[in-house]
Formats: sequence, C-alpha cells, structure tokens
Amino acid sequence: QIELERQKLRRLSTTRPQTIDGTPVELNANIELPDDVIEADEAGASGIGLFRTEFLFMNRDTLPNEEEQFEAYRKVVESMHGLPVTIRTYDLGADKQLDGVERPMLQNPALGLRAIRLCLTEPRRFQIQLRAILRASNYGKVRMLIPMISGAAEVDQTLQQIELAKATLTAKGIPFDPNIPVGGMIEVPAAALALRMFRRKLDFLSIGTNDLIQYTLAIDRTDDSVAHLYDPLHPAVLHLIALVISGANRTNIPVALCGEMAGDIKLTRLLLGLGLRQFSMHPGQMLAVKQEVLRTNLSSVKLLARRMLRIADPERMQNMLDRLNAD
Ligand code: PEP
Ligand code: MG
Repeated sequence: QIELERQKLRRLSTTRPQTIDGTPVELNANIELPDDVIEADEAGASGIGLFRTEFLFMNRDTLPNEEEQFEAYRKVVESMHGLPVTIRTYDLGADKQLDGVERPMLQNPALGLRAIRLCLTEPRRFQIQLRAILRASNYGKVRMLIPMISGAAEVDQTLQQIELAKATLTAKGIPFDPNIPVGGMIEVPAAALALRMFRRKLDFLSIGTNDLIQYTLAIDRTDDSVAHLYDPLHPAVLHLIALVISGANRTNIPVALCGEMAGDIKLTRLLLGLGLRQFSMHPGQMLAVKQEVLRTNLSSVKLLARRMLRIADPERMQNMLDRLNAD
C-alpha cells in the first residue's frame, strides 16, 4: 500500500502545482549541501527556497574560503538550470555552532550573537561569503536571504555590506548580477509585527516558522523537555504568520514560508487559506504537499482559515483543522 502511494506521488513530480480553481503555487526545496539539489530536482521543485549555507562551515576544522564557497554555490545554481536559488547567508550561533571555536557559556544563546548579528560583527568573513554568492549569481537566478532580521538598522548595515562586496568585484572586473534580489527571514516576532520597517529595503520575505515559534512561545527548539509546548497552531503563532502574509500580499512583496510548517500536509490548506503561495520544504515532503495543493479548493479553505484565526480554544482549533482537511 505504501509503495503504491509512493508511485502515485512520484507521478506528480512533473505536474504543475495549482489549486482546483487554477491558482498557481510555488513549491521550492530547502537544501543544506550542494548534493541535495539532486533530490530537489527529482521532486520537481520550482527552485531552491532556502540553501542553509552554514552547513558548509560546520563539522570541519577550517572555514571554507571564497573559492570553495563560490564553487559550492555555482554548482547548485547550475544544477537548477535557470530556476531561482535562494542562498541564505550563514546562520551560525545558537543551535548551529562552528567546531573548535572557543565560546563563552551563555545563558540564552538563541537570543545572542547568531545569524545576521554574528555576520555583522565579523565583516571580513561576511565579505568572503557575500562575494562568493554574488559571483555565483552570474551563472543563474540567485536571490540572497538574510536570516533572523529584527530591526531596520541591521538591514541597512547588511545592504551596505552587500554594496561593498559588489564594489570589490566591480573593481576587479568580476561579473555578477547587479540586481540580485535581497530578502529577509521573518523569524523574530518583532520583525513580523513591524513588517513595514522592511518594506522599502527588501525585495522578498521568507517566514522561518521554526524560529518564529521558538521566539513567540519562548520555547527553546533544542530542548526536549519543552518540546510538548512547541505548537505551530498556537493562536499567537497563527496571528503572526497571517499578519506577515497579508502585509506582504497587500504591498506586493513576495513572501514564502520555509520552516517545517511548509512541509506538513496537515497545514497546507490552512496556509493556502491564509494567502500563502510560496512554500519551501525538505524535498522529501514536496510531492505529498503538491498532492494536497492539487486537491484544495481555495475559496472554501479561505473562509475556514480566517475563522481559525478567531479561535482561542485548542480543541476547537483542532476540530476546525480537521474540517479544513476533510475530503
Ligand atoms: C526557520 O527558522 O524556520 C528556518 C527555516 O531556519 P532554520 O531552521 O535553519 O533556523
Ligand atoms: Mg531559523
């Protein structure tokens, strides 16, 4: 039975993802290392929605230099044959640490120097990655994604760093896409609530629900003892997600969701109903999500999804979700 189901799903790999009423939906892949593009391609991904580049830096003694990074990014870009590749600048710190680096014991590493905060404190290392990504943009459609933004000044500084990397390459006559889109990950409640701060600065947004849930509910995502409280359907989480999607759609800024929620078929209709049209997930989940998209009648799920935003009781929330997913 399982094998039959798998075969049925595999046949969907070339089917265009769209809802019953014909609304197109983008299903992109999350990857961690360049070879993961094979699985993304087999699953028929519309592109790479999240390349977690920090994995190139982890489990090794020395850091990858510009050449090594450039080759890794170029390999992914060329393998996707013109489909967009979203390269996230390294998200190190907290749950993803470098090997062999002395670091102080911190009470709250997830609230400390991680992701873009860390990059901005080590501009020399950051410049190396920015140049490598820019160089890869000459070989296909590359978008750059900044993790864990929380304030406007941080985005301004990042954009300045990108301009500096561009100027260095230009001075050396090295080609790159001068109009490379730059996006931000919405993973911190402050960023979701003050989305307008980024409207004119960024070309696209991507909601990182793994961290957004952690920071909204004050649940350490790596701590098993509180894992039972980690709830994607918590009304506060749903409100923030809905707020970002509607704010972005209203102002015509493309928005994707690339946390684990994007690959959970129980949540596909809910997210579609809230207005999400770009999903990014592990390639292994893509065909099942596509099947769900193909079975979805958008007008009926919109209504139920909006009603779910008004529910505070967890049991009623679950019942409503079951109704949304029925048939
Ligand atoms: C997220 O936080 O949802 C996300 C996609 O990033 P990561 O899981 O790599 O922190
Ligand atoms: Mg994250």
